[in-house]
Amino acid sequence: MHRRLPRVVLAAIATVVCLAHAGGALAQEPNQVTGLAAVQEEGFATMSWSPVTGATDYQVERTPVDAADQATGPGTIVGLWQPTRTVTPEAPTFAESGFVLGERFCWRVRARFGITAQPFSEPVCGTTRPQWGAGGGASLRTPFELSNGASYTSDLNEYFYTGALDAASERVRVVEIGRTLQGRPINMFIFGYPDPLPSAEQISESPTTLIQCHVHGNEPSMRESCLILARELAFTDDPAILQMLERSTVLIVPTLNGDGRAANTRGSSTGQDLNRDHSLLREPETKAFAAMLRDYTPDVAVDGHNGDTEDLPVLGPRHLNVFEGLYAEAKNGLVEGWIYDNAALAGWYAGPYSNGGASQETILRNTFGLKSIVGILSENRPNAGITRPGATFAGNENRKSYAQLWLIKQLLEYHYENHAAIRRLVAESLAFQRANIGPIVFRGAYPWPVFPPLPSAPDVDAPEPDAILDDPPCGYFLTEEQYRGAQPDGTVELRLSLHGIAVEGAPGYLVRELGPGYFVRMTQPLRGLIPPLLDPQAAEPMVGGVRLQEESSSAHGPVRCAQVASVPFQSAMSFDEAYDYTTD
Ligand SMILES: [Zn+2]
Repeated sequence: MHRRLPRVVLAAIATVVCLAHAGGALAQEPNQVTGLAAVQEEGFATMSWSPVTGATDYQVERTPVDAADQATGPGTIVGLWQPTRTVTPEAPTFAESGFVLGERFCWRVRARFGITAQPFSEPVCGTTRPQWGAGGGASLRTPFELSNGASYTSDLNEYFYTGALDAASERVRVVEIGRTLQGRPINMFIFGYPDPLPSAEQISESPTTLIQCHVHGNEPSMRESCLILARELAFTDDPAILQMLERSTVLIVPTLNGDGRAANTRGSSTGQDLNRDHSLLREPETKAFAAMLRDYTPDVAVDGHNGDTEDLPVLGPRHLNVFEGLYAEAKNGLVEGWIYDNAALAGWYAGPYSNGGASQETILRNTFGLKSIVGILSENRPNAGITRPGATFAGNENRKSYAQLWLIKQLLEYHYENHAAIRRLVAESLAFQRANIGPIVFRGAYPWPVFPPLPSAPDVDAPEPDAILDDPPCGYFLTEEQYRGAQPDGTVELRLSLHGIAVEGAPGYLVRELGPGYFVRMTQPLRGLIPPLLDPQAAEPMVGGVRLQEESSSAHGPVRCAQVASVPFQSAMSFDEAYDYTTD
């Protein structure tokens, strides 16, 4: 898989302006930091300097200044850079963020030996980049931007902003993929150039990146990143971005849990954690999202959150039923080979998300993997923490949203640089799943050793022996009642259909043995998700079906799934039927 240090493909978004710096200056005092430089990026400035021998950490000071670089307020320590929080401890960089975009500052950096501060560097000064976009639709602003991070965009303001972008740009089409339980629209932006592909089917056939911005209602930051990004994709003139949109589709779902956002609660209006419902599909929000995944089949995806201790905690799919090559690419190629390396250059502190849920198929990053999508979770430390002392509420929110905006652009660039290889990988994953070879695991995770060396690490979450079926089932039998019987969360028929799991009428020998019913064969693209949904031994089954083994025998002879003649059965509900269900 193609990996490299960053070339700024998204150049119009990230026009690099090199400001005054003291590169090469000799230290005038012992242990004084030299070589300080500040590069202005979108919503942050990358500070870099030459390391001081013996330093244990560094402090970054920011001072507001006028056009003549005279201080207009006191200098404040706004950053603490620790060499343990990067993959490049020999090359200090710090993403200084949390200021009002467009204002001018001078910065200084000093080393510390333990808690003993050494002399400050000479200052570097610069005007930070303003909020993106001028003229026409590009001058739209969200309430988050208008308040410089002091308030979030409300539901009604989101719909207004979404509608305005949709009306003003040929490059975007907004579709409503469903409604929340309280009736809020779940919108999706579809971007292409010169205009988006007209159907889900055509998008499914072309390289597609999905940005899922918000599922926990009290984690609003990446939703703001996505709304800003949507305006940039709609109006940028950057040839590199236009080329990317010409060759691929970008899908943005800004708000999956609109009810939770309105109430500022983690769960939906029922209290359900929607990021523990991407397998069972008990709620209208997750039903709508699953149907979208089934129909648009993105290749690369991110699920946005706020949590953990780094600037940018990230983690890929780890469920052991995920194709190993896909897990490995998400970990070694995307997270560690792309995001960590580029975060170290930009000055963000990235690392593995460590707060549990390693192998739950209910969690979207795992569901992504089980659906042959190179998908990750992206988090964002809620509080300023020791590395960003003195942050105001608004400054902290700006830091979070612009960090995740940077991360989303990295994901787009990664996919763009690897279109062909990702397509091959997805095809390999689908072939692996269809082949139904190798063990099946109900719960259990691929390893994710801690790197870089952080105080907290992801779960080990190795599977218990009784959670592994070394000899994979060949399929599951469901009775009429199990498959079509009414349930409060919707029938199994509906929910399997929303996933895109194929179901057949039971063949004759099963009918004779078990009665009338249905057969779900394992040799299909969602193979890894089927036992966690239908096996009686699963941790969170949708229904406990009859597990069928290749070698198992019945009164009528051995069951040979591979020889089961397919009995056509109209099980797949149309998208419209599923949609009607979600809006009821
Ligand atoms: Zn979350």
